[in-house]
Amino acid sequence: MPSPFGVSADLPPDQRTSAADARPVVRRVARLLHPYRRPIALVLVAVVAAAGLQSLVPFLTRAIFDHALFPVDGGAPNLDLLGWLVAVMCLLPVLASLIGIGQNYLTSTVGNSAMADLRGDLFEHLQKMELAFFTATKTGAIQSRLANDVAGVRTVLTDTATTIVQNSVTVTAAFVAMVILSWQLTVLTLVLMPLFVVLQLRVGRRRQRLARKTQESLSEMTAITEEALSVSGILLAKVFNRSASEVDRYREANREQTRLQVRQAMTGRAFFAVVQTFFAITPALIYLAAGFIITGNLGVGADTLTAGTIVAFTTLQSRLQMPLLQLMRVTLDVQTSLALFRRIFEYLDLEPAITERPGALALPTEEVAGRVELRGVSFRYPEPRSLSGTRHRSRFGDPTGPGPTGAPETDAEPTGRPAEPGSPGWALRDVSLVAEPGQLVALVGPSGAGKTTATYLVPRFYDVDGGAVLLDGYDVRDLTLDSLADAVGMVTQEPYLFHGTIRDNIAYARPDATADQIERAARDANIHDRIMSFPEGYDTITGERGYRLSGGEKQRLAIARVLLKDPPVLILDEATSALDNETERLVQEALERATRSRTTIAIAHRLSTIRSADVIYAMAEGRVVERGTHEELLADPEGLYARLWVEQFTRAERGGDGWSEEARRADISL
Ligand code: ATP
Repeated sequence: MPSPFGVSADLPPDQRTSAADARPVVRRVARLLHPYRRPIALVLVAVVAAAGLQSLVPFLTRAIFDHALFPVDGGAPNLDLLGWLVAVMCLLPVLASLIGIGQNYLTSTVGNSAMADLRGDLFEHLQKMELAFFTATKTGAIQSRLANDVAGVRTVLTDTATTIVQNSVTVTAAFVAMVILSWQLTVLTLVLMPLFVVLQLRVGRRRQRLARKTQESLSEMTAITEEALSVSGILLAKVFNRSASEVDRYREANREQTRLQVRQAMTGRAFFAVVQTFFAITPALIYLAAGFIITGNLGVGADTLTAGTIVAFTTLQSRLQMPLLQLMRVTLDVQTSLALFRRIFEYLDLEPAITERPGALALPTEEVAGRVELRGVSFRYPEPRSLSGTRHRSRFGDPTGPGPTGAPETDAEPTGRPAEPGSPGWALRDVSLVAEPGQLVALVGPSGAGKTTATYLVPRFYDVDGGAVLLDGYDVRDLTLDSLADAVGMVTQEPYLFHGTIRDNIAYARPDATADQIERAARDANIHDRIMSFPEGYDTITGERGYRLSGGEKQRLAIARVLLKDPPVLILDEATSALDNETERLVQEALERATRSRTTIAIAHRLSTIRSADVIYAMAEGRVVERGTHEELLADPEGLYARLWVEQFTRAERGGDGWSEEARRADISL
């Protein structure tokens, strides 16, 4: 049997599909269905039984004509026999339909369960991916694979397999029956089949290519929706009055999607029309051929060709049309789905960059003293992984960029902050720093110095390229990911709140926390009173990303969350946005409580907040350039820290932001 997945010479190499390419995908799909082999076997039995029953009908037809209505021996019509034959003929479809209902239930259960497994596996796998994957891939593109692509293979999983088996059995049984009835007429019917197969293969390949493009375009649309209709996206569009261009961008992607859908729907229509017409006119041709056969003009035996045989034959032939057409369509569906399966498996095959080594040490949180050391650490942000498939345009379009038929495109693009032109490309270069248990260690330095990067290496958001990060003397790469995650808490610059209640947002750190524990954390974070001032208290919905809360409130909620987690090591990335004096005092108090009795590494933008730090590391261009206490560092007026301090002091004098009352009053002698 020819493979439906032949190599096409007219396709670019990256889009050719060969049987060899298809085999691993098919094997994986089979593996996906493996847990459901029993119901599948049952389905197959049902399908064969139903098809077998149906294929008996033409023989009954022949018997009705040749033995009951117009007996070939010239006798009178046999009403008794007719009654029996008609009764069996009525019973067969009823039985077949009943079997069909049971079979539909099984296939639907199996297909949907397998799809749910696939979606679950994909989600679980994506959870394991490192941060770099998400900073480099559009959220919408990820969501699209999870939703659109998995939904796209649904039909294959739910009913394609049964359609194939069912129709193959029907077609085979019909052919056998046709040969039994009249091999001469069967040959006539088969003449055009090879042509149909060739045409169908060509159409299939075109459909597969279009399916891939349609999914890419869908992914693009999802990405635009996710970007433009998120709170930040809407804010950005409104602030810069770009709503109209966002609508244009969406409409353009929408048009492209429509164009592709129509092309996909139309591809092969002409072919199917030819096949349909062929089947519509063949009965007439059969009557004509039968005439020639009966009169002996064709030179092939006419003795078996009774009226009953001809009627039964044409009935069979019309029965053949639907299954054959369906088989052809289904092959196209399979080819389309292969393209989608490939996109899904591509994500599943991505190896997480941050993994736990075999035999990693589980360090119980209670036993962590909290000594953190970066020893000669060098680090460069990884290049985004390149994935086939999704075309990405920037928010502002990319008229010159590769179009739908352009060169292989990438799913990933560096949405992180790219290195400045001419910069050496290393975010950290030979950085060494130590935070002893319980100490408050501060990182200061100009923007882009590598402060955030240094802290990201502690919980292994990224792995070092040189040197090592140690927790209590253990290389963090030797610890289990769970124990490391439990040991390190973080308050990021822009605290993330999900759409849910304040209580749920705080309890995210410890889902088993009691209401009392949550309240205590909120009190310590100086946010309890504010929460209680909302009519719904702890049940207040924060709104997506916490947009219903002020910056200071969000920060304190994030602090409450980390207080509830109570990790031995805390990383604080201070928000750069200025807060009013009262809020700043509340946040500062909350932070002081949070840093008490644990190791804290704080990235400070307002230097006044870290005057009391045990050690301050000043960083610039990925290196540590100074180390000491506030007083020690101020002692060198040419030093980076002293210069930053003076700069902030001067800005504060002018009434600028980034300065607290405390610092304003600070007695600095430079
Ligand atoms: P800021 O005070 O502005 O937060 P920072 O000192 O924390 O700055 P980092 O965020 O650590 O600086 O960035 C250090 C360098 O690494 C910068 O040159 C930045 O452009 C680069 N960088 C940061 N994140 C990424 C990323 N995801 N991919 C590639 N480069 C990055």
